Amino acid sequence: MPIRPENRKRYPNNWPEISASIRFDRAGRRCECTGQCGRGTHPGRCPNTHGGLAYGTGSQVILTVAHLDHTPENVDPTNLLAMCQGCHLHYDRDHHAETRAKTRAAALAESGQLNIFGAIG
Ligand SMILES: [Zn+2]
Ligand SMILES: [Zn+2]
Repeated sequence: MPIRPENRKRYPNNWPEISASIRFDRAGRRCECTGQCGRGTHPGRCPNTHGGLAYGTGSQVILTVAHLDHTPENVDPTNLLAMCQGCHLHYDRDHHAETRAKTRAAALAESGQLNIFGAIG
């Protein structure tokens, strides 16, 4: 995922270096996903390499770095995984849905609608 503006300040200043060292030094320019994305389309480690063509779609692979716990501040190498955009988007998808649901629930609670629904239900 591109870094969202509201999250940008949560990344350390040296994030570009950290990200590059994970993607290029540790991962050797290859997606490190071994199934964490959950899309189940690559047995074992994902074959996509940075700048190459993605299997399945044939679009150019851009390697990104995923935070396994979805916390930008946590840049411990064990929390970071180089991922192609296909794996990364899939990995984040459930998390985003959950975040949206929580945000929606919080907004409803704030406006009192949850109480109304609670009274009906
Ligand atoms: Zn991948
Ligand atoms: Zn994957």
